[in-house]
This record gives sequence, structure tokens and C-alpha cells, in this order.
Amino acid sequence: MNCLLCGSEQHEVFSRVESFDFPLTYYQCENCGLIFQSPAEAQATDPQFYAETYRQIYQSSPEPTQKDLWVQEHRALALVRVLQTVKIEPPQRALDIGASTGILLETFQRAFDSEVVGVEPGDAYRTHAERRGIPMFSSVEDLTAVNPPRFDLISLIHVLEHLPDPVGFLAMLRADLLKESGVLLLEVPNFYAHDSYELAHLACYTPHTLQQVLRKTGFHVFFFQRHGFPRSTLLNLYLTAIAQPLPLDAPSWAVKRDRLVGLKRNLGLFYRRAIQKFFPHKAWLPLPEGKKD
Ligand SMILES: [Zn+2]
Repeated sequence: MNCLLCGSEQHEVFSRVESFDFPLTYYQCENCGLIFQSPAEAQATDPQFYAETYRQIYQSSPEPTQKDLWVQEHRALALVRVLQTVKIEPPQRALDIGASTGILLETFQRAFDSEVVGVEPGDAYRTHAERRGIPMFSSVEDLTAVNPPRFDLISLIHVLEHLPDPVGFLAMLRADLLKESGVLLLEVPNFYAHDSYELAHLACYTPHTLQQVLRKTGFHVFFFQRHGFPRSTLLNLYLTAIAQPLPLDAPSWAVKRDRLVGLKRNLGLFYRRAIQKFFPHKAWLPLPEGKKD
């Protein structure tokens, strides 16, 4: 088993947990410090898992839930605000991978007048997006098979942590789908504030390892934010990065080691418990009535 970030074979057990009654083992790479599951052990690397099982296990229903849609809608608005803040050119063509019901793509259409395309393996979610007129593909392989023109913006929102080969995947996006002048928008759970351990989370990213995976795959990160939007104003549950491709002849990058990951994780979760205890209404922002879990 090789580290999902640096490829090293040296790792030790970091944590054993249970998620939806499945036992999970997270390892830490002794070379770069990444926390990851073995893709060979993980259920989530079976393609059928995302087509049917994933949403059902997580939400007891394969259909989009009200809570899920509310979170996605508010997350989409926040992501568009971030793109406007960094003043990127309005993207003419935008691709969202893990597009769910297409809410983020609709938000891009409204904000930037973009032509949009989505990739979503979940059948019920993809159908939902298609009914709203968004061209959808069930996998990136199906999309590349039609040889689409390159994109100005590619977004991966809560997707990277699910991928068994994040390095190969990001390198493929850069080589085959993103314009040289394009931007990549990424968001993942922050291992120092979010539970992160979930059946389908094959890697748990820290601010350091997220930036390393982007740098290793030929991207320059020009915006990086820890934040809780739309769930919390006090907990930095998520990491958002915006990156641009480096020139193809840029020298290859030796991944730099993440330090004190276990200590920072423990401090982060200690802070989280304290905030939840003393500021419960600020720790987690209320979801609108009728849209609770
Ligand atoms: Zn590693």
C-alpha cells in the first residue's frame, strides 16, 4: 500500500474507528504525514458504491434531502463570493465534478453566465440535475470520451477526500480538461476541525497536505482559506483553495512533510468540544425550520 500523496510505502496505524458500522483503519504516511485509508481495504473504491449505496448510507435515502440542498445552496453562494473576491475572469465554461443536484453549476450560470457541465456518479442526484437542464456525465471517463473543449473553471467541492488516486486525478484534470489560464476551485473537510473519519473519506487533508497535493500535481495555490461556512462561524470545518496550473515544464515537486499532525488534531478537536460546550448556538449555525437532519 502506497501513500495517496507521496507514494511512500512506509506508514503506521493512526486511528481505528467505525463509520456506519464499518470498521475503518486510518494510516499515517511516515514520509509526508498524510492520513489515509488503504484504497484496497475501503468499500468506497467500488464504483457501485457511489451509484447506489453512498447517499443511502449517509442520509437513509438515495434522493436529495432538504438539509443537504440547503447546505449546498449556501455553500454555492459562498464559493461564488470567494471567486468574485479573488477577481477571476468570469469563466465561460465551468465543470463541477461531484456536481450533486447541480446547485453550484446553477449558481455559476447566474453569477457568471457560464456554460456548465457536471459529473455526478449518484444516479438520483444526476437525474435531478439533468431535469433542470444541466448536461451531466456519470464519470470523468465518460466526459473525456466526448473530447470536450477545455474549461476555464473546474470545481471539486468535497470530492478530493473520496478519491483513491488524488494525485493522478488532479494531474489528469490539468493535462486533459483545464485551460492553461483556467482555475481549479477545491474544498475539503479540515482534519483539524472536522470529524473527517467517514467510510468514504479515503484521505483526511490538513492545510499542509492539501497544499502539497496541489503543488505536486502542478498547481500554484493563490487563495487558501479555513472557514466554517455555511455551518459554523467559530469552527474552521473546511479548507477552500483556488489554484492555477503551473507551466508544464515546471520542475517536479518533492512533497514536504506535515508535522505534529496528531497533536494539532487533538488540539483542534479539544477546541471544537470547548466551543460546542460554551457557545453551542454559534458553534453550529441553525438550519432553517424543517430542514434539520
Ligand atoms: Zn506520504
